[in-house]
Amino acid sequence: MADTTCNCSRRQCTFSGGDRLCEILDRAGVPHDSKWRTLIFYMRGLGEFSTMSDDQKARIQQLLVDVLHRRDFSEQSYHEVLRADRDIRVEPYECRMREALQETERLAREFRAMLHQRRGDMDKLEQESVRAVESGLDPTEVVRLLRATFSEVREQMDNDAIRVGELTVTDPLTGLGNRRAFDTALAAGEAAWKGGTALALVLFDVDRFKRINDQHGHRIGDQVLRTVAEVLRRKVDDCNRSLNDTAVASAATEDAGECASVVARFGGEEFALVLTGEGAQRAGEIAESVRVGLEGVSFAIRDGQGHVVEHGVRVTLSAGVAHAGPGMAEPLTDSLFDLADKALYDAKREGRNRVRVAMDGI
Ligand code: GH3
Ligand code: MG
Ligand code: MG
Repeated sequence: MADTTCNCSRRQCTFSGGDRLCEILDRAGVPHDSKWRTLIFYMRGLGEFSTMSDDQKARIQQLLVDVLHRRDFSEQSYHEVLRADRDIRVEPYECRMREALQETERLAREFRAMLHQRRGDMDKLEQESVRAVESGLDPTEVVRLLRATFSEVREQMDNDAIRVGELTVTDPLTGLGNRRAFDTALAAGEAAWKGGTALALVLFDVDRFKRINDQHGHRIGDQVLRTVAEVLRRKVDDCNRSLNDTAVASAATEDAGECASVVARFGGEEFALVLTGEGAQRAGEIAESVRVGLEGVSFAIRDGQGHVVEHGVRVTLSAGVAHAGPGMAEPLTDSLFDLADKALYDAKREGRNRVRVAMDGI
């Protein structure tokens, strides 16, 4: 919070917010005690805090409006405002922690089910082994039977290992890659970039998503996220197809390359594309096609029984694009992320439903 030690010329005021502000605060009945005025100063300056969403800022500023309205400047009210401010600021982090916990629980459940299943297979294996040995069959036939049973169980275990690997990198809601997949892809992209392959990152954030949840409920919010994921997947597929067509048309002997290394949902309503090779060069174009694709979707809201209760609901997203370039600070993945994030922030600030490309890396 800003230091607001006073040097104001007004006699009783112990606050450095300036004469005009002091007068306003005096008129509003705010005590001269600098604690309240410091809080108000901080709440007025929230516009500068790029780490908070507009919604968070508006809610925190509403706290201030409520206090001024009530004119309750008691100690209790002060602590209530501080607590409410803290709750609003940490909400996104708590949300992510909850998500991480839910994911861990889901994985644990899946692993337990797999172990249970394998224990059943082991019991079956034991019974079949005993049966084969006691069957009085020719020893060569017994060995053949045992081998076949063992190899079946081993194959199932191999499948489990693959499934476990997939589960740990998949977002359960959308089926896209998760944060872990995103981190791995970005690190691989960095290694490829150092070997001369172009690399770009696109960050997408659904616009005013909180409103969708507030107006239509979390269940509809989740459906919207699935649709956003579908649009992303489709656009990346289109891009891969067009790269392949280009390669065929030009009778290229080399591989056409992939448009996207990974399409991931890496936070609540935030998605990312890690693009390499030719896809990276077309990052802005791909981001724009995703934006336009989602803009064109008309959502029908259905109640729990499946009846349409509202037609024509539109959802948009904003995107920030960054290209890896020489001279970027190490670690490159962090610099690239910060650039894309800043471009995304610009897209939001300039009105949302748009793509902004960071110029630094180009
Ligand atoms: P902005 O245009 O500035 O991005 O506004 P916003 O409302 O999209 O941003 P904000 O960060 O205020 O709100 C994001 C919301 O996303 C808040 C949270 O409840 C919601 N959310 C996060 N994860 C999920 C999820 O898995 N499902 C649903 N339905 N909502 C989620
Ligand atoms: Mg967001
Ligand atoms: Mg958002």
